[in-house]
Amino acid sequence: MVSGGSQTGGLDMWFQTLMLSNEKGRSDKEGPILSGWKDLPLELLMRVVALTDDPRIIIVASGVCTGWRDALCFGVTNLSFAWCNLNMNNLVRSLVPKFTKLEVLSLRQNRPQLEDSAVEAVASNFHELKDLDLSRSFRLSDRSLYALADGCPHLTRLNISGCSNFSDSALMHLTACCNQLKYLNLCGCVRAASDRALQAIGQNCNQLQSLNLGWCESVSDKGVICLASGCPDLRALDLCGCILITDESVIALANSCSRLRSLGLYYCQNITDRAMYSLANSRVRSKRGPTIRKSTDEKEGLSNLNISQCTALTPPAVQAVCDSFPGLHTCPERHSLIISGCLSLTSVHCACAVQAHRAGRGIVPTNHAY
Ligand SMILES: [Zn+2]
Repeated sequence: MVSGGSQTGGLDMWFQTLMLSNEKGRSDKEGPILSGWKDLPLELLMRVVALTDDPRIIIVASGVCTGWRDALCFGVTNLSFAWCNLNMNNLVRSLVPKFTKLEVLSLRQNRPQLEDSAVEAVASNFHELKDLDLSRSFRLSDRSLYALADGCPHLTRLNISGCSNFSDSALMHLTACCNQLKYLNLCGCVRAASDRALQAIGQNCNQLQSLNLGWCESVSDKGVICLASGCPDLRALDLCGCILITDESVIALANSCSRLRSLGLYYCQNITDRAMYSLANSRVRSKRGPTIRKSTDEKEGLSNLNISQCTALTPPAVQAVCDSFPGLHTCPERHSLIISGCLSLTSVHCACAVQAHRAGRGIVPTNHAY
């Protein structure tokens, strides 16, 4: 939670002095004597604060005295207000100037409290911010995104899931300014996550590794194809509930994003066997590359695929994907190929389930869709 100091020698000396003071009593005049909490050496204070997971302690400590406030101002890099159920907006605005070195900030809410004024205060004070969680901030408008774009250019992780008021124009501006983004959660951003925005992400955020587009119903193949070609390092993409996408999106991902580990296609009912075979063939192509890897290598290729409710798929195509990626499992222990709601796919099994059956240690159940 708190950036550690490097001078442990000094810290050890303080601990020893404290021990000696306790053993010899206050009559011993050698070494510094603590007359109050404010006399704690700053490095020791930072270590104590680092031991707590409760950000409220940090906030209270920042009000003890000028020395503690200054120490926390420069030492605290990670803070969460997710515990705050009342007046989060005012609290954030009043505390922001105290923690200028913040790199990780969670403003996740159970009920919407945060307003643009607090995000603008964050953006104007935390220029080193790398990780920001604004999920479920229903009250925020585009003002917040424009402020973050201009004030926090080093963001690598941004969660704005559920922020349904943001427009795609504001998101496009943010991606142009925050082009180091690696993790972006847009789940439920129904206005912001458009094909135009995905085109901007593909153009600006080439380091992107994880993108959640869950239930962004206006996303179509056009946007996903731009994303796939611009973000070759993509490892996780959630398209659950993106009802417009077809096989063309999956084919583009299979062709361009060789590091893809997790793909969510829940309720994408236009997806057919063609998409499955393109995934399976992408694995075959990568194995034929310059370095031939063992087919049992679970550390590469898809290790999570959700095709629940993709009702057009047939068992041979899904089995081909399962056979191509050793990281995909239908067995209950690992369960990373999720096919619930696809009653026609009950015959699809991962390799370990088949091996267990052959060895007589188990029976491949006839009803094996989860
Ligand atoms: Zn398995």
